[in-house]
Amino acid sequence: MGKKLANKVAIITGSGSGMGAEMATLFAAEGASIVGADINIERANEVAEKIKTNGGQAIAIKTDVSCLADIKKVFKTAKDKFGQVDIVVNNAGIMDDFSPVGEMTNETWERAFAVNVDSVMYATREAVKEFLPKKKGVILNTASVGGTNGGRAGAAYTAAKHAVVGLTKNTAFMYEKNGIRTNAIAPGGISTNIGESIKNASEFGMERQKAGMGLMPGMGSSSSIAKTALFLVSDDADFVNGVIVPVDGGWTTY
Ligand code: NAD
Repeated sequence: MGKKLANKVAIITGSGSGMGAEMATLFAAEGASIVGADINIERANEVAEKIKTNGGQAIAIKTDVSCLADIKKVFKTAKDKFGQVDIVVNNAGIMDDFSPVGEMTNETWERAFAVNVDSVMYATREAVKEFLPKKKGVILNTASVGGTNGGRAGAAYTAAKHAVVGLTKNTAFMYEKNGIRTNAIAPGGISTNIGESIKNASEFGMERQKAGMGLMPGMGSSSSIAKTALFLVSDDADFVNGVIVPVDGGWTTY
């Protein structure tokens, strides 16, 4: 059987760690050329180097996904280097500090939205510009169970990931007739480095969210996310559009 992503070029944000790194590695093994975009360029470079050592194609670009100029640069570099863009995975993201709205600082709110939502809109807009003329393209967003349920994080992250879910569904709907598929994964608890982005956690919020977290049926791995992502971006999912796929061991059934 041929490789599932042969001759495809995939932009993956947050490619230096966790789910993004796993997706980059798996997509490359399936034949895709990887354009990794991460604010942590050291980690993203390591992932790209490993892919190349294993015979794949990859580059890494230092990118702050909340900065439009950086996103534009990623698309330009992808085209300069590989000639096209076929798949865009909006995966980079940060947690909040578990604060409920009553304790919310504007800074926490704005940062959560800039990195988790504005970034997705910027890259989706660029992706659509690329995909419309050729009537083909795939967008995949990493949302969260925090984007479907209320008791999984603080108010800022929860609202931001709900926004990602809304943008995913609307983009899927709008461009359904134009050969563009847009889906999202809603991961449950996955062992990654995301804890590094949690600072000064709210005591009240931490105490409250124990109720939601307490129901979690265990932690999953980034490779489970990457395998689901591979399905969604490949032609195996050619009639799958606008879905939010929980990969959470069943947590959302509780
Ligand atoms: P991670 O911290 O291991 O990886 C995230 C990557 O994104 C890092 O390499 C980081 O440097 C990068 N990043 C952060 N801010 C950035 C910015 N402004 N610009 C560019 N890159 C940036 O975490 P992960 O768990 O692999 O997170 C991937 C996605 O999964 C995120 O969107 C996160 O919200 C989501 N998610 C994670 C979990 C979980 O339990 N780990 C659950 C649900 C959803």
